[in-house]
Amino acid sequence: MTNVDVAVVGAGLAGLCAARRLAQSGLSISVLEARDRVGGRTWSRTLADGTVLDLGGQWIGPMQTRVVALARELGVESFPTYNDGETLRFLSGDPQEVLQNLVLLFQKLEAMAEQIPLERPWTAAYAREWDAQTFQTWLLANVSGPDTLTLARLVATALFTVEADELSLLHVLVYIRSADSMSNLTNVIGGAQELRFVKGAQELSLCLAAQLGKDCVRLSSPVRCIRQTSQLVTVEADGGSVEARHAIIAAPAALADRIVYAPALPGYRSHMHQRIAPGEVIKIHCVYERPFWRARGLNGRVMSGTGPVTVTFDNSPACGSVGILVAFVEADEVRLFRRLAAAERRKAAIDCLVRFFGPDAAEPREYVETDWSEEEWTRGCYGGNFPPGGWTRYGAALREPFARLHWAGTETSAVWMNYMEGAIRSGERAAEEVIAAMR
Ligand SMILES: Cc1cc2nc3c(=O)[nH]c(=O)nc-3n(C[C@H](O)[C@H](O)[C@H](O)COP(=O)(O)OP(=O)(O)OC[C@H]3O[C@@H](n4cnc5c(N)ncnc54)[C@H](O)[C@@H]3O)c2cc1C
Repeated sequence: MTNVDVAVVGAGLAGLCAARRLAQSGLSISVLEARDRVGGRTWSRTLADGTVLDLGGQWIGPMQTRVVALARELGVESFPTYNDGETLRFLSGDPQEVLQNLVLLFQKLEAMAEQIPLERPWTAAYAREWDAQTFQTWLLANVSGPDTLTLARLVATALFTVEADELSLLHVLVYIRSADSMSNLTNVIGGAQELRFVKGAQELSLCLAAQLGKDCVRLSSPVRCIRQTSQLVTVEADGGSVEARHAIIAAPAALADRIVYAPALPGYRSHMHQRIAPGEVIKIHCVYERPFWRARGLNGRVMSGTGPVTVTFDNSPACGSVGILVAFVEADEVRLFRRLAAAERRKAAIDCLVRFFGPDAAEPREYVETDWSEEEWTRGCYGGNFPPGGWTRYGAALREPFARLHWAGTETSAVWMNYMEGAIRSGERAAEEVIAAMR
């Protein structure tokens, strides 16, 4: 049995940032991680030629101040996302008109989002009304024309990785409020897609874990059960238990819900876990000898009304030594795509890239597909979303400690929820809570 001040469950960015803050204030910590690696939803794979692929989270933006500061403190280098040239749109209707309509729609949403109290969205004047409808219902009532509707739905699946009819309107507004604006969410320059990490986003977690030290971060140690008394928390994990004064659970709700708690979690917490549903995304990398689209004046970005691939970006390394297209299959497209055999999936995805970029896209030298719903210790990405009724009925439970248990993870962040920025902030907030409780 290990004895420490604080046990942290999960070595993603949230758990590691919580541990870092606790260590800085002189507390002893044990971080228990189920996987044989740190980083959780950030996962960088190095190919034989040294090229790094980010299989999970990758972009940050300049307004995401905590992740920018953390990268600077850790000496983790970033570079601008390739952005020269035209974005291709495979959508129906007059592109100018559809884009103008979309801007008006974004303005309406932003005006509603401004009315939401950042830390307590469920107290907004219209919270009940907005939480009683899906985003799809609202779109149908507010969008003029089927082409704008298609694009609006596409933006929804790209941001939330679920369909508009799975989302509470209030959740969409909370998300916009949490990022401050639609342009922060959707833009490359000045938005959340502006920068990437030279060695991949997992480097942040690798550096944090190295600073904490081997004895502090225990890999391959899934936590199965958490017991608490009025004095102590006992965290039972494969490979041995940890006894602590407090515990921070920094795993997404779908995973936190698989741990056995004794005493059992309060009903409001348990029901909240059951409602935050992870999205569905398959991230595909196609590696080519060179970024051939650049010479044709294309920036590698696509938005397509027909799938399975609906969004692409240029994901080539900073040095441009090879050309990489990253392709996203999201929400209902994933549900269909996943039913195909591996060879059929590969063909379907590459056929899309050929439709977008021509025959040069037909034969990538590497094809790498990552289905985050099939990751045992994630079970869906980018993050969790509330369906109708979720925020107003269970939102108040999101960050509420249960005696000696505290909750972190990007889904619990009021700012940049579901992003790396939110994960970092949530870990730091949970650590402050514990430090205050221990005074
Ligand atoms: C494909 C994809 C693209 C994304 N793109 C971006 C992007 O461009 N920009 C951005 O900012 N964000 C992006 N994200 C989201 C971002 O990666 C996450 O918001 C962030 O990494 C979440 O960090 P976290 O620490 O909250 O959770 P996680 O990273 O999920 O960490 C939780 C950890 O807990 C562990 N765990 C779970 N259960 C247990 C248990 N019982 N015992 C012990 N350990 C356990 C898990 O293994 C995991 O390591 C993306 C995510 C994906 C998957």
